[in-house]
Amino acid sequence: MSTPANFLHELVGSMSQGAAGNPTVAMIEAAFVHHGLHWRYVNMEVAPADIGAAVRGAKAMGFRGFNCSLPHKVTVIQHLDGLGESAEVMGAVNCVVRRDGKFVGENTDGKGFLKSLRTAIDPKGKSVVLFGAGGAARAIAVELGLAGTQRITLVNRSESRGAELVGLLRDKLEVDANLVVWPENYAVPAGTDVVINGTSIGLYSPESRLDLDINSLKQGMVTADVVFSPVRTRFLNESAARGCLAIDGLGMLVNQGIVGIQYWTGIDPDAAVMRKALEAAMGV
Ligand code: NDP
Repeated sequence: MSTPANFLHELVGSMSQGAAGNPTVAMIEAAFVHHGLHWRYVNMEVAPADIGAAVRGAKAMGFRGFNCSLPHKVTVIQHLDGLGESAEVMGAVNCVVRRDGKFVGENTDGKGFLKSLRTAIDPKGKSVVLFGAGGAARAIAVELGLAGTQRITLVNRSESRGAELVGLLRDKLEVDANLVVWPENYAVPAGTDVVINGTSIGLYSPESRLDLDINSLKQGMVTADVVFSPVRTRFLNESAARGCLAIDGLGMLVNQGIVGIQYWTGIDPDAAVMRKALEAAMGV
């Protein structure tokens, strides 16, 4: 057996999650194996109070980077040497990359989503309806803004979280953004190009539906979901039945992994290999 030349470690939150059971580990390591990289992607549990020590430890041990998930996405920032553009705007990091000996924080969630969306449509100059204002929606909204999306209508249940994100889009990215506090049976405005579920509605719950007037979805619109389990959510199935081009959340998950590997290794990994490994690990 060859000796690994580099180790790549993933920092994860305090949830207990063995490597064998984490589909992301299987996906990233499948790419390393496929491309002949003697790298490892290792799950670690880090308590919130230990994040600074964990970052210093990763640097001392020569890690090329790491992913971090909740609850570390914001608190990790004070321990880093710098931030990429979108991570700076959204104030959250899920991927750290060693560049010239410095740990730089990036956010690959929104970038992964956009890469997946671009298989169907270029968001530049388009009009988007985005449901949600949590971490995933925030990452997506910022990347949409940076990509030149013309208009973002943010639909969210809680007004305060929605207003905060709309303010950020207007003030930092000068996007034409407006907030709709989620009404009953929300109707997507005519002229909308892309409709995105950025909420957790539907996660592990195939029957859950967005409170949306399904008749307002028109043929040719692109719909996309951040939820990846089930892969085909009710929103995607119903919108596809109305003639929309429906993009699933697994594409976002695979593509955020691709962006991370590109950052860490400089190679462009094979998306099909990664998706296959992810699907096998998830049993879909
Ligand atoms: P957050 O908890 O930060 O945000 C959840 C969002 O969903 C909020 O906007 C919340 O609204 C809204 N929401 C939840 N339940 C309801 C409901 N019953 N009615 C109306 N709105 C609701 O979660 P994240 O943003 O971190 O994650 C959201 C989803 O994205 C999860 O399913 C996660 O698995 C998925 N995800 C997928 C990724 C991928 O690669 N495919 C990557 C990252 C996340 P409110 O503000 O009113 O509370």
